[in-house]
Amino acid sequence: MKRKPKLKILIDGVSAEFRQKILWRRWKFQFTSDMPPDVDGLCDLNLDGRPRVDKTVRVRSGLEGEYFLDCVCHEFLHAAFPFLNEEHVEQAATDLAQLICRREVLEPLLSCWGVQKIARAVIGQWERDLITMKPHTPALAMDLTEGGGEADDTTAEA
Ligand SMILES: [Zn+2]
Repeated sequence: MKRKPKLKILIDGVSAEFRQKILWRRWKFQFTSDMPPDVDGLCDLNLDGRPRVDKTVRVRSGLEGEYFLDCVCHEFLHAAFPFLNEEHVEQAATDLAQLICRREVLEPLLSCWGVQKIARAVIGQWERDLITMKPHTPALAMDLTEGGGEADDTTAEA
C-alpha cells in the first residue's frame, strides 16, 4: 500500500509480530519500521496471486488511527482475496476502516471488557512513557500537557 502523504505518521512506533488466521491459513503479521520508502503495507503474494510459503503481511509501525486500520484492512484483503484488483482492495479497506472508526461501531466495541483491558494496558504504558519522556508517543504527550487529555470537541454535550 502506497503512503498517502497528507496523513499523519508518528515517528518509529513499537514493533510487533503475531500470527493471524485469514481464511483458514495462518499468516504472520509484522508491524515494523523495516519497510521500503513510501510504502506503508506489504502482502507477501506471488505475481500469480497465490500466497508465498512464508505468508507475511507487513505494516509500517508508528502509523495510527483510521489510516493504520486502513493499511491493516488493505493487506488483509490482499491476503484473503489475492485476485481482487488493487482499486477494489483500496476502496474496500478505506470504507471498512471508516466504518470501524464510527462512534456507532466503536462504542459497543469499547464496552467489551476484553477490549477495555487492552485499552487500559495501552494507556498505562503511554502514561509511563510520558513520565519517562519516551519519544514514541508525541501526540499523547501534547494532548496531556495542553488540556489534560480532555476532548476539545465543541459538539460534546455539557
Ligand atoms: Zn494494495
